[in-house]
Amino acid sequence: MAFKPANQIQDLQYFGEFGGVNPSISDSSTYTFLSAKTMFDTFEGNADGCYLYSRHSSPSNLYLAEALAAMEGTETATVTASGMGAITAVLLQLCGAEDHVVSSRTIYGGTYAFLKNFTPRLGINTSFVDITNLERVEAAITPKTKVLYCESVSNPLLEVADIKGLAQLAKTYKLKLVVDNTFSPLSISPYHLGADVVIHSLTKFINGSSDTVGGVVCGTTELINDLRNVNDGAAMLLGATMDSLRAASVLKNLRTLHIRMQQHSSNAAYLAEKFEREGLKTVYPGLRSHPSYGLFKAMMNEKYGFGGMLTIDIGTLEKANALMELMQKENLGYLAVSLGFYKTLFSAPGSSTSSEIPEEEQKSMGLSDGLIRFSIGLDADIERTFTKMKACMTQLNIL
Ligand SMILES: *Cc1c(COP(=O)(O)O)cnc(C)c1O
Repeated sequence: MAFKPANQIQDLQYFGEFGGVNPSISDSSTYTFLSAKTMFDTFEGNADGCYLYSRHSSPSNLYLAEALAAMEGTETATVTASGMGAITAVLLQLCGAEDHVVSSRTIYGGTYAFLKNFTPRLGINTSFVDITNLERVEAAITPKTKVLYCESVSNPLLEVADIKGLAQLAKTYKLKLVVDNTFSPLSISPYHLGADVVIHSLTKFINGSSDTVGGVVCGTTELINDLRNVNDGAAMLLGATMDSLRAASVLKNLRTLHIRMQQHSSNAAYLAEKFEREGLKTVYPGLRSHPSYGLFKAMMNEKYGFGGMLTIDIGTLEKANALMELMQKENLGYLAVSLGFYKTLFSAPGSSTSSEIPEEEQKSMGLSDGLIRFSIGLDADIERTFTKMKACMTQLNIL
């Protein structure tokens, strides 16, 4: 039977301390023990259900983590202060000096910078490959490789990873397949396709209101316990802990994610089709012209569509900037990085979110100057939005 991620979230029922319909927020950094022995056992990891100190865990953070684990179908999860807090903790937990990572070359700029510039200082090296080519991925694996890293739908080129194929490689070579699923929550369930670890930046679609940063690691109980270990856990020791107040607020937003994703997806599909029909170079995984349309379709939880992200390439950065400024003036969206907001957001990744990637490498991966990345909002009347966007393009001689 098909996996139904939104049902998994819906079935979780948490009451507040006084029968509140939302769980009480844990407003404490530290917790009392009735006996000194229990405190010792908790430090040793032998007292389940006891809280110690909120960098380790807190009730509010556990509620949110449990809901996200349910959504991804993993045993458990741990939330972090940001998406990068999740990504860096997982990579440093799984890799040490001399270890090697095989990563997609089209990934979030911060993750790219971490693997390219930061981890080599710790003796961890990375080969960046075209993730859509499984032969290339396999050829990059060495006896030192520990991790295969990718995004289910990549930023900003919207390449789609063949998670089942990558999971098979990970199994053969005894690697951990780590998938950043930030662009396709609910639409794609990487763990069900064979991934070992699923990461999200909660900052984007999952929280959806562009009012906080947050992250999560979903995986086995063993991995999550390792990450939180007081002696050598990367999440515990690097300290990127989410605040309880934030965890409570993200959990409330998670409750409407299924409705929001359907609207983001149907609006993005409508615009992508219209843009393509107007002759614009449009990339959207839900278009038949997308090289991985069939792959996405085979992996997806149908109901949530192909996601809210699309790109158009209008040739030059000057034109891209002029169009984005005009669309903002017409109140069609905001010229801003990030994604998953109720309002459409657009930016030129080459000079913003992917600027960490050197120019020649941007070229070789197909990231051109005139590329505009759109995170399509929840507009109630997307036909009207298209008409207005088209007028902007006509005014600037793009159409
Ligand atoms: C934003 C983003 C991140 C980083 O998340 P933060 O919450 O900003 O730390 C990682 N991966 C992807 C795909 C993202 O879009």
